[in-house]
Amino acid sequence: MRKIIVQKFGGTSVADTDKIKNVAQTVIKEKNNGNDVVVVVSAMGHTTDYLVKMAKDLSPVPSSREMDMLLSTGEGVSIALLAMAIQAAGYDAVSFNAMQVGIMTENVHSKARIVDIKTDKLKKNLAEGKIIVVAGFQGVTEDGEITTLGRGGSDTSAVALAAALNAERCDIYTDVEGVYTTDPRVVPTASRLDEISYEEMLELAHAGANVLHPRSVETAKQFNVPLRVRSSFKTDNLGTLILGVDKMEIYKPVTGVAADLSQSRIVVCDVPDVPGQAARIFGKLAEENISVDMIIQSYARKVSNTNDIAFTIDTADIDKTITTLNSLKKELDCGEIQVNNEIAKVSIVGAGMIDRPGIASTMFETLAEQGVNIKMISTSEIKISCLVNKDDAKKAVKALHEVFGLSCSEVAEVKGDLPDV
Ligand code: ASP
Ligand code: MG
Repeated sequence: MRKIIVQKFGGTSVADTDKIKNVAQTVIKEKNNGNDVVVVVSAMGHTTDYLVKMAKDLSPVPSSREMDMLLSTGEGVSIALLAMAIQAAGYDAVSFNAMQVGIMTENVHSKARIVDIKTDKLKKNLAEGKIIVVAGFQGVTEDGEITTLGRGGSDTSAVALAAALNAERCDIYTDVEGVYTTDPRVVPTASRLDEISYEEMLELAHAGANVLHPRSVETAKQFNVPLRVRSSFKTDNLGTLILGVDKMEIYKPVTGVAADLSQSRIVVCDVPDVPGQAARIFGKLAEENISVDMIIQSYARKVSNTNDIAFTIDTADIDKTITTLNSLKKELDCGEIQVNNEIAKVSIVGAGMIDRPGIASTMFETLAEQGVNIKMISTSEIKISCLVNKDDAKKAVKALHEVFGLSCSEVAEVKGDLPDV
């Protein structure tokens, strides 16, 4: 049996026709290794941002169905161009959009989850010796409606395809050389990790390391798909392999430090301390498809018998969240709703922190030494996150990277471009 390799190329890797020619060569090289190749691509360069901007010019809150119709066109361009480039280099290739393949998603616009991928057409075309180019980021519902998976979702398309096809590996080619201990643009001595576990990568991805779409890591973990993050431009480098934690040697308590600048904090003040209030708030937010990250309920004040309930959301969801909470105000009988988008979530992540006391206190002491005020704290088994002022994020990341011994002696090569998430 021939092995199947899924390759994914992000927006910066297909930003112009010269870059697409390069991608074609990387694809062909894998084919010449004797493997069957399925390629997933994102829209060219900043196409998706540009499409979003046009939509916002026309309507402050465009309908999510039409947004999906619009945004899915970006990937439609890049698949056809890449297939042409591969054909022009003398190889047989065919491009498919999500509808043609049957990348089935739930019936939700703008952040749909994949529920099933039909593999018949893919397998038939692979058996005919073709290289297949598939549009990332998009899906289709049972009713034939076009959906998208959320910004940065092409990574998830690639991993889901790799899982469905039982691929040998999924290679995510991007504009960085792998996963780093922190963002090398913030800390130039950040080091590239040879390996990281799914669990750690998942926490880092959620904590704001913009290398991979978090759901792609979740899917890889669930189906045990070995995932490699590597450079589109230096294809000889192997990048970072993401795999099960049981296969790793853990030397350090902390693997990486990340900052997420895209969250906002909401505080619902003076919520009467009676059962059902949190369920009301978060139930309604869930109904509106708003994901909540850190949640803190204060200790009930004796005199007023009320709590403050604070939580963080994606800043993109801010208007929707406020509208939703305002509609609940009467029912909750709460006080004012405060919003702060000048915040950042700084996290340390590491499977090695399990059963090692003192990691949290080291983090808090380090932030205190830097004069950084902590607004909220949350933890998981392998992560500690602190909410701080946005202006303090860089300082906090630098100090934490240093104190947990993550710096290397060489200075990483830093490119000006933002990672193509
Ligand atoms: N083109 C989409 C975006 O910019 C999907 C992706 O690149 O992964 O979000
Ligand atoms: Mg991306």
